[in-house]
Amino acid sequence: MSESLLEVENLHTTFGTERGDVHAVDGISFRVEEGEVFGIVGESGSGKSVTALSIMGLVDAPGRVDADAIRYRGENLLDASENEMQSIRGGEIAMIFQDPMSSLNPVMTVGEQIAEVARHHGDYGESTDFLSEMKRKYVTGTATGSRSWQRAVELLDTVGIPDPEQRAQEYPHQLSGGMKQRVMIAQALAAEPSVIVADEPTTALDVTIEAQILDELLSLRDEFGVSVVLITHDLAVVRETCDRVAVMYAGELMETAPTRTLFEHPSHPYTNGLLKSIPKVNDDREWLDSIEGNVPDLIDKPAGCPFRDRCDSAFELCQKPLVSYPGEGVDHEVRCHLYNDAVEVDGDEAVAVADDATEIIEQRSDAGRPVGGESL
Ligand code: SF4
Repeated sequence: MSESLLEVENLHTTFGTERGDVHAVDGISFRVEEGEVFGIVGESGSGKSVTALSIMGLVDAPGRVDADAIRYRGENLLDASENEMQSIRGGEIAMIFQDPMSSLNPVMTVGEQIAEVARHHGDYGESTDFLSEMKRKYVTGTATGSRSWQRAVELLDTVGIPDPEQRAQEYPHQLSGGMKQRVMIAQALAAEPSVIVADEPTTALDVTIEAQILDELLSLRDEFGVSVVLITHDLAVVRETCDRVAVMYAGELMETAPTRTLFEHPSHPYTNGLLKSIPKVNDDREWLDSIEGNVPDLIDKPAGCPFRDRCDSAFELCQKPLVSYPGEGVDHEVRCHLYNDAVEVDGDEAVAVADDATEIIEQRSDAGRPVGGESL
């Protein structure tokens, strides 16, 4: 298989606290291909956003990032210097943060904020020395005839902001939530990145604006071949937009599959629980299904499967470390011991042929990461 655009191998992100280490991301591996929309879905606290920040090199102390590799176009980002990371961040891999109001600078016009990125990372260079930047930011503003300003206006137009010349001269507080989110997308695009990591980009928006923003992200993929890592808790958003999806729980990946496969053949008990909890049109259930129990304490996670205490199918093998098993069809991987070849499921009960099952687990974990194929 050819090299993927972005590959994450065995990523661990840990935060030291007085009570002990919080294992926010606990050994995940995945890949993102050119022009692909890859979704990471999971409930709050599952480690999705920390995964994004770890890739971007934005985890500060007391956080620690350890991984076998985080490769972008074959280069391991863990070996990059801070200067190199600054140019990759934004220039090659851009991030759209969850909350535009706290991510945009309230005292700069939105045009200025986009033009600044175009000057630093795109091919729209004017002087970027410190004094010129300060003068531009706080005294004169970017000249409206300059290439970077024109680029900012063009990008506001690209992301569907009406009257972009006027809007470029406005401040964030003058724009609606949907417009601010579009400004964030325009800012990410100004660097002409190959990958956009979008962390819950539509959480604060109503459904019609959400649909427009998601359409925008898809058209970026179609027009510019940009890959998107879409982080969301919303399975409906995943279904509409993603080519492949990974389901995350307690800092670990539970299931990864092409989106259609995941919805047609959900295999992991956690994925099934999530899907059952979605309300449907003409739903005649009096109560929606829910997953009983709580996410485990990430400081003191149980050995084996972290979903064990909430899983109706749990059996004795679930205390063993999780490994990936092949699911239905290409690229489908499930981290659940029900899929161990030495396990027989009879109705609600799963029984393992103990020695054989353990041997299979050892073989699959020894095979190195990613398990069950080129990459999970
Ligand atoms: S490994 Fe066991 S506890 Fe975990 S999801 Fe599968 S059956 Fe349930």
